[in-house]
Amino acid sequence: MFTRIKTPSEIAAMRESGRMLSTVLHKLKQYTEPGMSTKDLSDRAKLELKKMGGQPVFLGYQGFPDVLCVSINDEIVHGIPKRSKIIQSGDIVSLDFGVSYKSMITDGAISFIAGDNGSAKDEKLVRSTEKSMFAGIDVVHDGIKTGDIGYAIETELNKDHYGIVRNLVGHGVGHHLHEAPDVPNYGVSGTGSLLVAGMTIAIEPMATLGGHETYTASDGWTVLTTDGSRSAHFENTILVTEDGYEIMTVPETL
Ligand code: MG
Repeated sequence: MFTRIKTPSEIAAMRESGRMLSTVLHKLKQYTEPGMSTKDLSDRAKLELKKMGGQPVFLGYQGFPDVLCVSINDEIVHGIPKRSKIIQSGDIVSLDFGVSYKSMITDGAISFIAGDNGSAKDEKLVRSTEKSMFAGIDVVHDGIKTGDIGYAIETELNKDHYGIVRNLVGHGVGHHLHEAPDVPNYGVSGTGSLLVAGMTIAIEPMATLGGHETYTASDGWTVLTTDGSRSAHFENTILVTEDGYEIMTVPETL
């Protein structure tokens, strides 16, 4: 289904959903310490979201077994939280979360470095991936095409010669977690699907210190870099407006 033009009440629900989602992610970032397991983070996410009144979206989605994806280092996305997976100082931790409120869904992700001895290279990858997401967001307005977003993201990431994951892309979102159109993190300006005011999309660059090739682990979910290079992932849910955009995944002040 192509993402629909949302009604004012649907937009209001998505704002609430996005506030909850982003607040939980930012709380998790503050909470994360080396020595915790990735399952500790999903337990906390479940608790925090419940307090706010939102519903987790990932649990049970195509059989995914948890509320949160926690992906470490060369894991790009869709890591399954585990009690046995312990976060080390200097790890790149990527958290991806989906929330439903009044049946309206938002999708968001952040990456950060656990502890205080991240390498300069990893810090830069994390910062640059976030910057590329905002470069993609900044071109959004009524009448743009998905290729305009991809081109902006690709241009930013190419400055540092990062690998840009190609087989996972942004997407429409709102009534379902994944709606058409795809929003690739590469592309040619003026090509792709037309986006108009009232549509909602997830913009989510995934960048690596190496190449763009990926593989899926034997758990059937975790997507990793083929060359073992580290990766980062940022995602916001965006409303297209007449003259620009509104970021729907904004945290409350913590
Ligand atoms: Mg997404």
